[in-house]
Amino acid sequence: MQKNKIWLSPPHMGGNEQQYIQEAFDTNWIAPIGPNIDFFEQSLEHYLGSGYVAALNSGTAAIHLGLILLGVQSGDTVLCQSMTFSASANPILYQGAIPVFIDSEAETWNLCPIALEEAIIDQIKKGKKPKAIIAVHLYGIPYNIDAIRVLADIYGIPILEDSAEALGSSYKGQKCGTFGDIGIFSFNGSKIITTSGGGAIVTNSAALKKKAIFYATQSKEDAIHYEHSKIGYTYRMSNVCAGIGRGQMEVLEKHLESRRRIHQFYAVFFEGIAGITVHAVPDDRYFSNYWLTAILIDPINPYQMTRDQVMHALTEEDIESRPLWKPMHLQPLFKENAYYGHAVAATLFEQGLCLPSGSNLSDEALNRIKGVFLQLMG
Ligand SMILES: *Cc1c(COP(=O)(O)O)cnc(C)c1O
Repeated sequence: MQKNKIWLSPPHMGGNEQQYIQEAFDTNWIAPIGPNIDFFEQSLEHYLGSGYVAALNSGTAAIHLGLILLGVQSGDTVLCQSMTFSASANPILYQGAIPVFIDSEAETWNLCPIALEEAIIDQIKKGKKPKAIIAVHLYGIPYNIDAIRVLADIYGIPILEDSAEALGSSYKGQKCGTFGDIGIFSFNGSKIITTSGGGAIVTNSAALKKKAIFYATQSKEDAIHYEHSKIGYTYRMSNVCAGIGRGQMEVLEKHLESRRRIHQFYAVFFEGIAGITVHAVPDDRYFSNYWLTAILIDPINPYQMTRDQVMHALTEEDIESRPLWKPMHLQPLFKENAYYGHAVAATLFEQGLCLPSGSNLSDEALNRIKGVFLQLMG
């Protein structure tokens, strides 16, 4: 039998994307401006139910602009979830600011409120009141939104909500991406929808959206010539890419259902297997798009399998899997930066594995994955 590689989270086109790209060609809107961008932004705003969306060329650019809009400058301190993709933290460095990393809580794998408050109090004591908190909805599971918001309000520190992995997730019925003072999305190739590479920033006013676009298009002041008084960036999304996004929005709900069905498949399969737990929402206030389903493999399990052995066995069968994000405070790049908390993130990193979760994964593929585990268990 011919085996095909099973990817972790490959792109999944809906069908109308090429038609919208064709429209861009037919009307010659081959530029970072045009009707696909407008349509894509409007459909995101409609989907989220609140907020003003500006489409950008990456999620990382959205985080960078978010920090700029929140007034983060050189020498400022920014608190950031340690367990995340490096794109959450790199823009802090772009601004010449100083990242301070925070441990995860066991329930959501996101910001631990206790470690976060400890960091805020300690940094204030040192005369470095943090300028922003970067909170992430890892793998689509919302962070503890109530607890983090309370702390942000008590200490008067804005939240930059990294919702790159959480389009379609919600908390108490409100969509992720709309909880922060600024929110961001990514439409990279592996995300729940893709524009082949892209992102968006979500603001809570039309004026702030306008300001984001101003910075994203070289900070051109109102004049007949090119007048500049601020540093500018080239961060706007292309109208061609936005055509892909427009088509993808039409199938977002379907993709979300598929990802959640895959998560359910894994949950049922691993339920009876000692030593392996599937990461899931803590209670029904949380709704996850289950962008990636992740498992924890307890080093003490009846089958004596290790995370690395499982990964190796999957690779042998041409199945892609991936360890969890390596926490930022353990990265060589950030070895000088402060860290608050204990070893929750580090332990998750040692034991965790992301399994194939793409919305186009077939039942046959899921059974092939299951087969690898059955074989490992003897
Ligand atoms: C994908 C991702 C980003 C940014 O993605 P881009 O590749 O720049 O679009 C940011 N944060 C997290 C947590 C991500 O997973």
